[in-house]
Amino acid sequence: MPILKSHSIVLRRFDFRETSLIVRFLTREFGKISGILKGIRKDPRKFASTVEPFSHNEIVFYKSRNSSLHLVSQCDAGENFLSLRNNLGRIGVASFMMELVDAVMPDEDKNEEVYNLVLTALSELNNNANHDKIMTIFKIKLLTLSGFRPHLDSCIACNNESLGLTKFSLRMGGMLCQRCVDRDRTSRNIFRGTVATILYIEKNDFKNNLNLGFSMEIKRELDLILNSFIRFHLEKELNSLKVLRKIEFMPLKAAGVPAVPLAGGVKGGI
Ligand SMILES: [Zn+2]
Repeated sequence: MPILKSHSIVLRRFDFRETSLIVRFLTREFGKISGILKGIRKDPRKFASTVEPFSHNEIVFYKSRNSSLHLVSQCDAGENFLSLRNNLGRIGVASFMMELVDAVMPDEDKNEEVYNLVLTALSELNNNANHDKIMTIFKIKLLTLSGFRPHLDSCIACNNESLGLTKFSLRMGGMLCQRCVDRDRTSRNIFRGTVATILYIEKNDFKNNLNLGFSMEIKRELDLILNSFIRFHLEKELNSLKVLRKIEFMPLKAAGVPAVPLAGGVKGGI
């Protein structure tokens, strides 16, 4: 059993038996791993971290040869992102990010870019940047880095770039040209600005993207396309997205305003 050390972010945790905790970590060095922290609920001082969801920790673990569950012997607290934990909307976005990473990333497959993306997004949430925008940028970046990227630069059926790409096919995962549009009759119209925004976000770094303005129409379409795309490919709706919708509608409901789709975009445009 080799002993390994890694920087990690807590994606998910659940109680195991009477006293232990099973935690899914995204590690910088080994990708997504599952570890058991024996006795932590009986004696929390056994570990130097409370292993909060989306906290950053340094862990030492014994890598099992026959199982995907490894024994964590040490867990030292790093950044706990305390200020994001004071805001329900930010907690909702952080929970969504952890659930999405857990759903799209394969086990024990190192991806340092994804690790850095998660850490950057959590830091920006903690720094009070616009959380709705962070979530949009995060979805686009993670889909690209994890290989789930929607095909936007040419027709997904024939690879043509010049025949007017106007419709998006969820089933095929990309744009269709005028000649191929009948290949998926459920494909939907999409603004050129939405495609341009996704391509821009893919190419630019996270901090630069935070300065980008979206018109309300593009923001709504980005949410619709990205959420439908994620739901279609994962074949399920993420629980945290349902919770997030409830959180977003809370102040509106309290004020007697009828619910509208998740919006909150910034005026401007690309
Ligand atoms: Zn085509």
